[in-house]
Amino acid sequence: MTIDFRSDTVTKPTPGMLKAMMTAKIGDDVFGEDPTINELEKVSAEMFGMESALFCPSGTMTNQIAIKCHTQPGDEVICDESAHVYQYEGGGIAFNSSASVKLLYGDRGRINASQVKTAINPDDNHKAHTSIVCLENTSNRGGGSCYDFEEIKKIKQVCTENKLSLHLDGARLWNALVAKNESPKQYGQVFDSISICLSKSLGCPVGSVLIGKKEFIKKGRRIRKVFGGGMRQAGFLAAAGIYALQNNIERLKCDHEHAKQIGKAISNSSIAKAVLPIETNIIIFETAETTAASQVVEKLKQQEIYCYAIAPDRVRLVVHLDITEEMVDKTIEIIKNI
Ligand SMILES: *Cc1c(COP(=O)(O)O)cnc(C)c1O
Repeated sequence: MTIDFRSDTVTKPTPGMLKAMMTAKIGDDVFGEDPTINELEKVSAEMFGMESALFCPSGTMTNQIAIKCHTQPGDEVICDESAHVYQYEGGGIAFNSSASVKLLYGDRGRINASQVKTAINPDDNHKAHTSIVCLENTSNRGGGSCYDFEEIKKIKQVCTENKLSLHLDGARLWNALVAKNESPKQYGQVFDSISICLSKSLGCPVGSVLIGKKEFIKKGRRIRKVFGGGMRQAGFLAAAGIYALQNNIERLKCDHEHAKQIGKAISNSSIAKAVLPIETNIIIFETAETTAASQVVEKLKQQEIYCYAIAPDRVRLVVHLDITEEMVDKTIEIIKNI
């Protein structure tokens, strides 16, 4: 039995999801004629109490479209140094938007309002024009850490006072909502745009949704075309998304419970020096001084447990829909004996 903790992107559609996909009504979405995509966009916007939404092939694309829409060339983006938009999107902020980035050093991926305030450039010709703040919830490199919503509201206040857009990279927002007992509508009220992934913890094969105001999404739809992201009969994929929104959110509690159990076993083992606090479905641990992360990954691989070294001394495991109770028990057993 191989147990794959490399990412929550490795999930395969369940029979229920496949059935929804196979029976989807489809049309050409570039003509606006795919009823299932239109439905997914409508449902997503309504969930967040926002006006409009746009189905895209990836979370990288939804983030990059948002940044492109909110900036002009030469502008500056504020985000945490660990942010996906900066670390893992191929330099897209520079490539697509010709914008620069001001990095902040937050607490496990979470920045605060006072840091944001200090990072805004003054109205001075020497300086880049600060135009957008990007937050990530949950934070991937922060080990699935969740924002305190009160802090988000304070950041929003700073953005409003300084006429900055506020974008949320919510690739794993569902995990945060479930862990903190929050609602999508709270988020819809404070963010100008929200990117959510269907392909991560919700178990879809493909897809992300960008949500925002009507005019913003209209502009975003044009940029999606320019980026080559206009898909045709992609209602098959949108059907998986609708199914996931209806069936796969509540169960995330179970992933979080499993992550905590595995994290506990790791922290009691000889392989870890410290485990980051586990708030959702991600486990990140620092390896013991004498062992490199790559060695730990290799050792686990020999027992058919797959995970990643995300730094020379850091290993990441992600729990997801395809990780069963039995796999969790087996993993804990193996870690105990390592
Ligand atoms: C996975 C991820 C994305 C989007 O990645 P894609 O692979 O392009 O869908 C964006 N932000 C975060 C934090 C992620 O983990």
